[in-house]
Amino acid sequence: MGEVFGLFGHPVGHSMSPLIHNDAFQQLGLTHSYHAFDIAPKNLEKAVEAIRTLNIKGCNVTIPHKVEIMKYLDFIEEEAKQIGAVNTIVNDQGRLIGSNTDGRGYLESLLPSLDRSLSEQDVLIIGAGGAARAIAAVLVKEQVQSITFANRTVEKAEALKVAFDANHRNLAVSSLQEAEQDVPKFSIIINTTSVGMSPKVNERPISLDKVRSNAIVSDLVYNPLETSFLKEARLKGTKIVDGLGMFVNQAALSFQKWTGVEPDRRRMRELVLKQLGGNNVNR
Ligand code: NAP
Repeated sequence: MGEVFGLFGHPVGHSMSPLIHNDAFQQLGLTHSYHAFDIAPKNLEKAVEAIRTLNIKGCNVTIPHKVEIMKYLDFIEEEAKQIGAVNTIVNDQGRLIGSNTDGRGYLESLLPSLDRSLSEQDVLIIGAGGAARAIAAVLVKEQVQSITFANRTVEKAEALKVAFDANHRNLAVSSLQEAEQDVPKFSIIINTTSVGMSPKVNERPISLDKVRSNAIVSDLVYNPLETSFLKEARLKGTKIVDGLGMFVNQAALSFQKWTGVEPDRRRMRELVLKQLGGNNVNR
């Protein structure tokens, strides 16, 4: 009999994860199944206990449980500790191991667009929430040349800088307005805010009027796939990296942790694109 896998979140109704994981199991001839579990915050501890009781082999974790769930797990991998959140759980014979594939997933979507090494990149991260933190942890580890954190609430960007200061000597903070003025300084610009997500598709986190044409501009929002921000970047001639790559890669990395097998990422991407078809989606 196949094993059971799942997603813990609240809400989970629009999640694409069951679709892509179940399809990947099927493609690989595995009889496993993946279910979305809508877990209210007050039931989180019991839900984690159920992973052990029901012998659920692995889980993804999404909003709002990514941070809170950590205290119920038996071991947290180093990168997830740095990110301060878990998006993947492996049940190793009752021992629950938490990890985070978001940052690596993002990095893997970025790498094919680079024509210089990471150590030569000056990065602007717009936003200071969970996704920004996951990406920052990985870029700090990779020792990019510099990272500037820009956020609507500047104090949160400051807190992000403080969290990583000990591991990188070239971190800075700015307001969104300052970042907009400083845009020519950056070789990689990443929108990690939800600005531009459907239905408010005409919004942009900052203007890219002054962007370098050899920069890479990236957006974590993938509904729509080409956000207003990415459209502006494309018209300025920059390379663009959409948010679907991160979504697919983080899923594929979780899948590998659970099964030891690499799923067909291109097929995962196509499935999500087909499903998107103009609908609102999130994880
Ligand atoms: P989060 O922790 O809630 O952080 C949200 C961030 O967006 C904060 O920095 C917030 O600024 C900023 N923000 C929200 N509305 C804004 C507005 N109107 N103007 C300016 N800034 C605004 O969320 P998250 O988990 O980091 O996720 C952020 C986005 O990334 C979401 O759209 C999510 O769907 C997407 N995401 C995509 C992937 C993927 O696989 N592609 C993975 C993870 C997340 P303040 O601090 O000022 O509130």
